[in-house]
Amino acid sequence: MSDVAAGVARVRARIAAAAERAGRRPEEITVVAVTKGVELARVRDVVAAGVTDVGESRVQEAAPKVPALRAAARWHLVGHLQRNKAGLAAGLFSVIHSLDSVRLAEDLSRHAPQSLDVLLQVNVAREAQKFGVPPEGLPALLRSVAVLPNLRVIGLMTIPPLHRDPEQARPVFRRLRTLRDEVAKVLGTALPHLSMGMSDDVDVAVEEGATLVRVGRAIFTPAGRNPEEMS
Ligand SMILES: *Cc1c(COP(=O)(O)O)cnc(C)c1O
Repeated sequence: MSDVAAGVARVRARIAAAAERAGRRPEEITVVAVTKGVELARVRDVVAAGVTDVGESRVQEAAPKVPALRAAARWHLVGHLQRNKAGLAAGLFSVIHSLDSVRLAEDLSRHAPQSLDVLLQVNVAREAQKFGVPPEGLPALLRSVAVLPNLRVIGLMTIPPLHRDPEQARPVFRRLRTLRDEVAKVLGTALPHLSMGMSDDVDVAVEEGATLVRVGRAIFTPAGRNPEEMS
């Protein structure tokens, strides 16, 4: 087994345990293996290990990797997207997790070759330096994006404040879920996906309802190495 396959197995075991604690089925949760800073050979290893969804945080880094593995995996953009890269991103990715403005949505809609799945990024903790729409801006953004052609809003995404203890992320994840429930009800749209949880807090995120988890270091850092050495 490659060390990447071992990393995938460790992450899947954490997800299964967290799902069980929450009374959920592990199949409800899709692992998006985040490959930033990871060479193509190891991205191939992660796909060979059965991972069907891979993510990048930057469009430029994805550009050479996507064509090599386009048929083998669905590509997700998990990081911030600048408007001037919307056209490129629309051609590379199947899912965009970081939509946070109407203007960006219009650019993506114009360039999307066919239906593009998007998640709206919410700045739940209202951090000044973070991207994402504040919670109170979510209904208006959702209404505007819903009418654009070629975009399908499938859910919400958040990145919690940096923390030492994953329990500190729990209220943020829980708030994303209740926000989703509120807007889905008010607007009468199904928003099935919650993109939340990374290497350090994937367990808590799954307990709080994550359906897409974005995991990098926990997969690609060989066991026994301190993941912080790689970040
Ligand atoms: C890098 C990144 C991840 C993965 O983070 P890890 O801590 O390596 O699991 C997830 N989401 C986003 C937006 C990222 O930029």
